[in-house]
This record gives sequence, structure tokens and C-alpha cells, in this order.
Amino acid sequence: MAEREYEKYFRQNRLPHLWCPGCGNGIAMKAIVQAIAKRPELNQDNTVIVSGIGCSSRASGYMDFDTLHTAHGRAIPFATGIKLARPDLNVVVITGDGDCTAIGGNHFIHGCRRNVDLTVVLFNNNIYGMTGGQASPMTPTGRKATTAPYGSVDRPFDACALAEAAGATYVARSTAFHVQHLTDMIAKAFDNHGFSFVEALVQCPTAYGRKNKLGSPADMLKWMRDNAVMKAAWDKLDPATTAPEKFPIGLLYEATAMDYDTAYDQVIERAGGAHA
Ligand code: SF4
Ligand code: MG
Repeated sequence: MAEREYEKYFRQNRLPHLWCPGCGNGIAMKAIVQAIAKRPELNQDNTVIVSGIGCSSRASGYMDFDTLHTAHGRAIPFATGIKLARPDLNVVVITGDGDCTAIGGNHFIHGCRRNVDLTVVLFNNNIYGMTGGQASPMTPTGRKATTAPYGSVDRPFDACALAEAAGATYVARSTAFHVQHLTDMIAKAFDNHGFSFVEALVQCPTAYGRKNKLGSPADMLKWMRDNAVMKAAWDKLDPATTAPEKFPIGLLYEATAMDYDTAYDQVIERAGGAHA
């Protein structure tokens, strides 16, 4: 890849972006375009970016592809429609934790279950950033949010474990600190013919970090550096003695299963129809 070749994938006339100083969303967005640039078969004509609503979902407006900025929580159904109509396209979904795991939680589960050939990148900042800092299903217990000023009583769930349980065939996690690693996880997701899910932990210094006194954006990135454990090392840890804030990154799960387009082609054949 030529140096800064990925820059052509940004709409320069839409920059600078509106994200707060120190926000991690730009890092994750850049990882996506660098991953696209790593795959020579991918380009602006065969890649579609679909996003929901939220700070992360603004990314689609900055990326120079065919893009669709949809309704809150609904990016995966829109992306499924695009994929069924045009199976030849590389369809990427950008979503946030409120968008993907709360409002769009059912769509997430059923996209996994159907093994739709999409790459879904979850920008997880542990909070609803754009809509005012409400707690999301990714907000850790005890952390503060506008809807939990004394600390959230709810337990978060593991979005990667849910993706695996629901039927996704590629599940990976990385962080805004591990930029090259995150880029690799996304590029490998493009190679999977089925539902690929990449959780990218990103820092939100404004709506989440400030309320929870997590320090500067650099402090939040250092927290990711200090607590992320590569999967191979994670598998050797003793859960009884591992600090609760530690988490695994890397390829967490991989499987082979028929994707939704192929399954639908078989239905068309059984019905005696003709392929488009
Ligand atoms: Fe980023 Fe948080 Fe600001 Fe939204 S509110 S742009 S997620 S730092
Ligand atoms: Mg969020």
C-alpha cells in the first residue's frame, strides 16, 4: 500500500469532522479505510458503507464510498437489503454500542443468525455519546451516565460473545490504542464470507470519560493498552486470578457456515426461479 493511499477514501470537502478533540471514532474510521486499502480487490465502486445513528455513525458522511446513513439501530437491516440485492458488493456497517446493542439489538442478533455476508464494526465507547450520555448495554456496572448519575446498576454484556452465540462466523475485538491490530482484524473480516463482527473499543472523553473521571484521551488509551490481552495469552490466564477489567483482543471466534445470499439462491433454485 502506498503511503497515505487511503486518503482518497475520505471526502475532503466534508472535513474537518465534528467529533470532539481526542475522540476515538476517527481512529476506528481510519482503521476501516486502511483495511479497505489493504485489500486490492476492494475499491470505491464495490464497497458500501452503512451506518445507524450516533457519534460513530457520522463516519459514513466522511467516507468517499456509496454510503447510507440510516435510522437509529437499523443499519443492519438496510445493509441486509443491499447485500441481497447486490451480493457482489462489500457491505460494511458502522455502528455504536447504543445503536447496535440496545436500539438495534434484535437486528444484530438476527443478522448474526442469518450469517448475512456483512462486516459490522462496532465503535464501542460504553455510552450513548451523541444523544446526551445515557447508559448503554456496554456501560460497566457502577459507571456514571446521565441516566445513571449515581452509577449504573445494570450489568453490561459481551457483544462478541453474543455475536458468537447468535451465529456470526467471524468475531474479533481490538481497540483504538492497537491501531494496526484493529486494521488487521477488519481486513481479515473482509475475507470471511458471512457475518463478520469486529468490536473496536474507542474512547469518548466527553460524554463518558469526563463523567467517570477517566482522565485525558491519552489516559483512556493507556487504559486500553494496559488491560487488553492478546487472545493467545488470554487463553493461558487463570480466570480466578485475572483482574476483572482485563479483556481479550484478537480473533475470538471463527466458523464456516452457509451465508444468507447462498441460502437464498438455493430457495430460488428450489422454486424454479432464475438467478438475477
Ligand atoms: Fe466522540 Fe464522545 Fe464527543 Fe461523541 S461525545 S464525538 S463519542 S468524544
Ligand atoms: Mg456509544
